[in-house]
Amino acid sequence: MSTLTSAHPEVVSLVNISTEKWPPRHRTYFGALEVRSPQPGEAFAITPIRPATSVMDLGDKRTMEFRLTAREIAEDIARELNSDSGEGSFHGVFVAAGLEPTEAELSDARRRLEEFNRKLVASADLEWERTKNPMFITDLERRAARQLGLDKPWLYDPKPMSECPVCAEAIKPGVAVCKSCHAILDREKAAQYGLVPAGERPRRDNTARSDASAKQDGAGK
Ligand SMILES: [Zn+2]
Repeated sequence: MSTLTSAHPEVVSLVNISTEKWPPRHRTYFGALEVRSPQPGEAFAITPIRPATSVMDLGDKRTMEFRLTAREIAEDIARELNSDSGEGSFHGVFVAAGLEPTEAELSDARRRLEEFNRKLVASADLEWERTKNPMFITDLERRAARQLGLDKPWLYDPKPMSECPVCAEAIKPGVAVCKSCHAILDREKAAQYGLVPAGERPRRDNTARSDASAKQDGAGK
């Protein structure tokens, strides 16, 4: 790639430090452009941007061609990607001054991204405080918490509810006893918590007893 870029002095580098994947950007003057994301182990990814010629429609079937510099195009794409999430929005994309980003440029981008992520997490915390409903937490907020390495109760999607086979009431996954009709849904678990009446325990005939004592002998060693 370096031989390619050095052969085109007009090329600028659009740098991305976030692992976020974006759909391709579309422009009439270059079609679709895929903005690269860093691979595991990479600190950033570079998408080279070249100049392009655009056509302006002046009406009355008259058009005017004009040249867009690579920097203008790159700045436009960076602005579009960074600004789609409200005030202070930043998604880790910037245009490097040179072909390779400097350490100062990278650390500035990391600081801005972290700031924005912290803001997202704070707003998710507030929403959770108010509603305790994970439905109100956005994917962006979840990703922000993961990127910051924070564990939050709202990070987890609610598990799907199932139905009690006896009374058809919605039940949480993994429950031992239906809270509506008290049907035992998980006998083993119910027994563990002493929820199965003694008469309903599996009958201890001779085979069962010898099995159990054999196990106990094994465990006691
Ligand atoms: Zn039930």
